[in-house]
Amino acid sequence: DPQHDAPETLTAQAVIAQTTAALTAEFELRHGRPAGGVWSAPGRVNLIGEHTDYNEGFVLPFAIDRRAYVALAARSDGLARVSSTFSDDIVECALTELSPEVLAGWSAYPLGVAWALLAAAAEGENPRTPDALPGFSLHIHSEVPIGAGLSSSAAIECATAVALNEFWQLGEAPARLARIGQIAENQAVGAPTGIMDQSASMLGHADAAVFLDCRSMQTATIPLGLAANDFEILVIDTKVSHDHATGGYADRRASCELAAATMGVYSLRELTPADLPRMREALDEVTFRRARHIVTENERVQETARLLRTEGPQAIGALLDASHVSMRDDFEISVAELNLAVEVSQRSGAIGARMTGGGFGGSALALIPRALRESLEADILKAFRAEGFARPDLFIVQPSEGATMTGAHASPGEGASE
Ligand code: ADP
Ligand code: MG
Repeated sequence: DPQHDAPETLTAQAVIAQTTAALTAEFELRHGRPAGGVWSAPGRVNLIGEHTDYNEGFVLPFAIDRRAYVALAARSDGLARVSSTFSDDIVECALTELSPEVLAGWSAYPLGVAWALLAAAAEGENPRTPDALPGFSLHIHSEVPIGAGLSSSAAIECATAVALNEFWQLGEAPARLARIGQIAENQAVGAPTGIMDQSASMLGHADAAVFLDCRSMQTATIPLGLAANDFEILVIDTKVSHDHATGGYADRRASCELAAATMGVYSLRELTPADLPRMREALDEVTFRRARHIVTENERVQETARLLRTEGPQAIGALLDASHVSMRDDFEISVAELNLAVEVSQRSGAIGARMTGGGFGGSALALIPRALRESLEADILKAFRAEGFARPDLFIVQPSEGATMTGAHASPGEGASE
């Protein structure tokens, strides 16, 4: 990985250029032809708004400075052929044969996106069927760690989506490509996730977050102002695996559906803090607390976006802290390691801190003054050692640009050689 040798002074563009050069070389090795172009898309961290997406509420994620890259070239044999540095396998399938039923494993992410894009292209005013579009070879290289709560899956989906959208000249807008990525993840991979991850990966900007209304699908860019305030966002990956979280996730979704049905609303988004007394009357104790998390979290997301616009990041600490308490006590998706990461961060000078992601493990984030980074990291490591917890992974994430075509690039068609 050429990036590990990169001096810290390299600009983001220089890093992308280096990675692009390494990727095109690996593409030629794996696919025996030159790459026609390179595209990339970032992972994401959710600043605030947890489990609100499937309740049609609000989320505020941002794209990070770790990206998935794809190199692509045309094929004249109608095949989709995909590889990744992550695997020795090369998986291929005729475009005309792509369907969720035939897709499995890691290749279901890129091939699922191809399938979802083809399905979209076959509809609309100017329908194009798979036999009318060229096949492709595609190679993936990702810097987004898997299962660390940074959405390596959305990074791959969005990088593939922008690549194929341009290659096939489909002209789909970024928000539509986010939806294509979600369709691939829901139907080809079979993971019932919301659209937050793909929206952040497609629509992110440097030093900004993506405010997303999951009912109207409207988005807004919210300035984070980290650089101007000498703030950073520290991610504490507890290494507690959330693989076994599927049951908990499904259970929380079921509680939210039950609460909405009992309250006679289509989704919990329809309820506000003014409804809480009514909710307490109508719902059993546990379902009430689950629903209260969603209602109060939606308020916190909107308030965070408002404060970031009007006052800046120093004003949002209490909201981050309150979000964590709500997830810990009302939604009950935190674990001891996440609570410790949050408490130590707060004690050691963070502006605010909370667990982030679906819960039952994964990562916490802390908004911190840059000058405190070293002492805060030392405090966290010490506290984890004292509790006998596994050593957490600590790293800074920079809010970054969303999916993009990167690197010098001839027409993707020029890679064709059969
Ligand atoms: P995350 O929280 O990181 O998104 P997911 O389980 O949603 O975790 O997605 C991880 C999956 O995405 C991996 O198991 C793999 O199938 C796929 N994936 C991630 N990175 C790569 C990669 N570099 N190459 C191929 N597939 C990848
Ligand atoms: Mg994922």
